[in-house]
Amino acid sequence: MEPTMSQFEQLYRQVALSVAGNPVVEKVLSKQGWALAQRFVSGETAQDAIKAIKRLEAQGISGNLDLLGEFVNTPEPANANTEMILATIDQVHAAGLTPYNSVKMSALGQGQTAPDGQDLGYVNTRRVVERAKRYGGFVNLDMEDHTRVDSTLQIFRRLVKEFGHQHVGTVLQAYLHRSEDDRRSLDDLRPNLRMVKGAYLEPASVALQSKTDIDAAYRRLVYEHLKAGNYCNVATHDHHIIYDVMHFALAHGIPKDQFEFQLLYGIREDLQRELAEAGYTVRSYIPFGKDWYGYYSRRIAERPQNVMFVLRGLL
Ligand SMILES: Cc1cc2nc3c(=O)[nH]c(=O)nc-3n(C[C@H](O)[C@H](O)[C@H](O)COP(=O)(O)OP(=O)(O)OC[C@H]3O[C@@H](n4cnc5c(N)ncnc54)[C@H](O)[C@@H]3O)c2cc1C
Repeated sequence: MEPTMSQFEQLYRQVALSVAGNPVVEKVLSKQGWALAQRFVSGETAQDAIKAIKRLEAQGISGNLDLLGEFVNTPEPANANTEMILATIDQVHAAGLTPYNSVKMSALGQGQTAPDGQDLGYVNTRRVVERAKRYGGFVNLDMEDHTRVDSTLQIFRRLVKEFGHQHVGTVLQAYLHRSEDDRRSLDDLRPNLRMVKGAYLEPASVALQSKTDIDAAYRRLVYEHLKAGNYCNVATHDHHIIYDVMHFALAHGIPKDQFEFQLLYGIREDLQRELAEAGYTVRSYIPFGKDWYGYYSRRIAERPQNVMFVLRGLL
């Protein structure tokens, strides 16, 4: 039997993510890939990212800054990453903008122990949220692989209780079997949640494997969250889903200020402008920094056409 498009996409994603994790491939691409990565990454410094926000704001699109970097296993880099994010928030404020940042807690020491015995990821993320709140800003806790979900949601709960849902949000991944239950379990916080399909290579024991099932789970998560009266960040480039969410909101009397569309920097910029022109809040997730490889390889894994883009660039 011929494989379906959905099976092909799934297989492609698995192969691409495992090839990207190969140390030899990583070495070659890390050396030669920066020029190519700039399609998805705004630059190496906070000032590059601020320029990108200003360019997008002129088109009615807001920004969400992400200092690139993932898992670190000692406190020094975790604390250094935290200081860089704090400095970025100060610079964004100084540039006359309201800070909106995303953080990966594995880069801030999640799972390590701080001097006071608490989780270092919690201690550092708390500092980031406190700083953003000082300027009326917002921090989103990105969701990483499934082994981190429990800890991320626990830390999220603590931070919402301390700083309020106007200043901190997190992410649920539609591919995880647990996400519908997780969404319900957070309802008491009136949480600001970003819904994504999920970007990591996860086994069938914890995650849906077919695109059709993931798309259906994605719609359910967004619709349930909106019906519960909560703020939803609809983070996808899938225009079928985006148009369905618009229709769902109209049909159920959900106001435009109860949700926003979030897309990644450099992807479907036409769609980003179209949505902004139609009066929807649109936010572009703008990565910056030197540690771009993990982020870049997940973008390549999402779309077979992106491999041709890399190969053409390398050759
Ligand atoms: C703002 C934002 C934040 C995110 N945060 C997280 C997070 O915290 N944790 C996490 O696990 N994942 C996160 N993701 C990634 C997400 O899980 C998906 O891997 C990613 O969004 C691709 O899925 P999709 O919903 O766009 O739909 P897909 O079904 O993958 O794609 C639908 C269509 O979108 C376009 N498209 C999708 N990806 C690309 C691409 N790379 N290049 C060009 N076109 C593309 C194509 O036209 C494609 O046909 C985030 C995504 C966004 C947009």
